[in-house]
Amino acid sequence: MLRHEVVVVGAGLAGQRAALAAIEAGRDVALLTKLHPLRSHSGAAQGGINAAVGAEDSVDTHIFDTVKGSDYLGDQDAIEFFCREAGPTVVEMEHFGTIFSRGPDGSLARRPFGGAHFPRTIYAADRTGLALLQALWERLGGEHLTLYEEWDLLRLIVRDGRVQGVVAFDRRRGTFEEIAAKAVVLATGPAGRIYARTTNAHSCTGDGIALAYEAGAALKDMEFVQFHPTALLESGILITEGARGEGGLLKNASGDRFMATYAPHVLELASRDVVSRAIVTEIGAGRGFSGPYGGYVHLELMHLGREKIESRLQEICDFARHFAGIDPVTQPIPVYPAQHYMMGGIGTDAKGATNVRGLYAAGEAACVSIHGANRLGGNSLLETLVFGKQAGLAAAAYADTAAAPEMHASDLDDATGPLRAWSAKPDGEDPSALRAEMQATMEQYVGIYRDEAGLLEGIRRIRALRARFGNVRVVDRSQVYNLNLTDALETGHMLELAEAIVVGAYARTESRGAHARTDFPKRDDAQWMRHTLASRGPEGPVLSYAPVGYTRWDPTERVY
Ligand SMILES: Cc1cc2nc3c(=O)[nH]c(=O)nc-3n(C[C@H](O)[C@H](O)[C@H](O)COP(=O)(O)OP(=O)(O)OC[C@H]3O[C@@H](n4cnc5c(N)ncnc54)[C@H](O)[C@@H]3O)c2cc1C
Repeated sequence: MLRHEVVVVGAGLAGQRAALAAIEAGRDVALLTKLHPLRSHSGAAQGGINAAVGAEDSVDTHIFDTVKGSDYLGDQDAIEFFCREAGPTVVEMEHFGTIFSRGPDGSLARRPFGGAHFPRTIYAADRTGLALLQALWERLGGEHLTLYEEWDLLRLIVRDGRVQGVVAFDRRRGTFEEIAAKAVVLATGPAGRIYARTTNAHSCTGDGIALAYEAGAALKDMEFVQFHPTALLESGILITEGARGEGGLLKNASGDRFMATYAPHVLELASRDVVSRAIVTEIGAGRGFSGPYGGYVHLELMHLGREKIESRLQEICDFARHFAGIDPVTQPIPVYPAQHYMMGGIGTDAKGATNVRGLYAAGEAACVSIHGANRLGGNSLLETLVFGKQAGLAAAAYADTAAAPEMHASDLDDATGPLRAWSAKPDGEDPSALRAEMQATMEQYVGIYRDEAGLLEGIRRIRALRARFGNVRVVDRSQVYNLNLTDALETGHMLELAEAIVVGAYARTESRGAHARTDFPKRDDAQWMRHTLASRGPEGPVLSYAPVGYTRWDPTERVY
């Protein structure tokens, strides 16, 4: 059996930052990841990372914008800490070697992003995530770190109320492995593949969130799912908010800049929930375009000119040209909202601690919560670094004093029994068919607009799919890179999370941030200014509620 003091699962920005912090605190650290670290979804981030470094801007304005953007569900104490850490975090990443774009005077270039009072989003062209990820990976390269690459976390071993280690699957050799650990940090990233149309990579299947839930951690605010307003129609590939930050316009089929109706002051730069709903409303009212992939609106960049488009939005140009056959220099880009981000996740405090001793979480898999009901663009890359570091430090401190972990001989068999049973079956359900049905269900009933009848139907369908998953079958018996097996694993995880999302959405009888109920169109602070917590029970999620951290920002109506 392998042994480490701290095991960090996930090698995106959050996991790498956690690992670095734990190593610097003197612990023996292992990083376990199902992908090569540089293939983590963090590397797909385009637009940028927020920090109030401009003369006109201030940390207080960043705090206020984030609180307002969250529709007053974000914990204000955590948000204050987060925004104060922003400047030092960006400077540190620059010292690690991130090459950020510069203004004419040599200072860090900043672009306007939705919901922000000032241009606050620092960027490296439209490849910010990759620039950060590469710099951090190079920085980690100088440290003593054990890497378990292309290993899938299968189970967290929790006994006597604390983490004892993990069981994992080595994709390359097809073997099951045990690692005893005093502390585990989950930084397993997004879960966007629960939806049919998403900007998230194929690997974003919420594994760590589901496994924490299985191990007794409470999930927080799962019903809040962000849809990004501008994704390419057929593929769901993201067209960064930076495109609107640089001056891109949204137009309906009559050529109107329809955002004037929905956000008269900031138009295209309203927060994401507002713009996504506006697009869906325009199309629903017959004012959009229609084509073989459904309704859409236009994102126009042509007036920005070739030079600006090709220098500031290089990657967007490539995506539009290769995946939609559109040249944004001369043609409008057809766009429609797609699932983009999970505000909810494994509930943690501002140090990354969960309700299970020795278990920490950070990044998109976690919910502190600083994004509340709606995340502002540019705040997520920052979150991975700020809270990745906190979780790494807290895990290191805990591991320093915790007793040696105790793994039992039966742990490996218990964790791998279900997988072996899937492969031994003569017939059963195809995981990819179950996945496709789940994605369609979530898209139709738990999307941008929700209502009671749809959510009840969503619950019924997801529960039926979960029951069918009990009979899932893996046909491929190969040992090496058995994608049929990992597909089944991931589908099971996503079905757990889909149920927590839809049950939480059904219970929340108000509209707040990204959760828009047509039958309860108003925000209801008296009853609902509180976090949803979902714990795993034998019959499905058991909901309870927790207060929102409050410092000095009174809730007001959110208009842009
Ligand atoms: C297309 C796109 C563009 C974005 N642009 C921006 C932006 O401009 N600004 C911004 O602030 N935010 C942006 N975001 C959001 C932001 O990039 C993510 O929230 C953030 O990078 C997530 O980082 P992470 O470290 O939590 O997870 P990830 O970077 O996704 O890393 C997850 C890691 O977990 C590992 N993992 C997962 N499951 C398992 C398992 N079962 N076993 C072992 N390892 C596992 C993976 O291998 C991976 O290494 C964007 C997101 C997308 C999808």
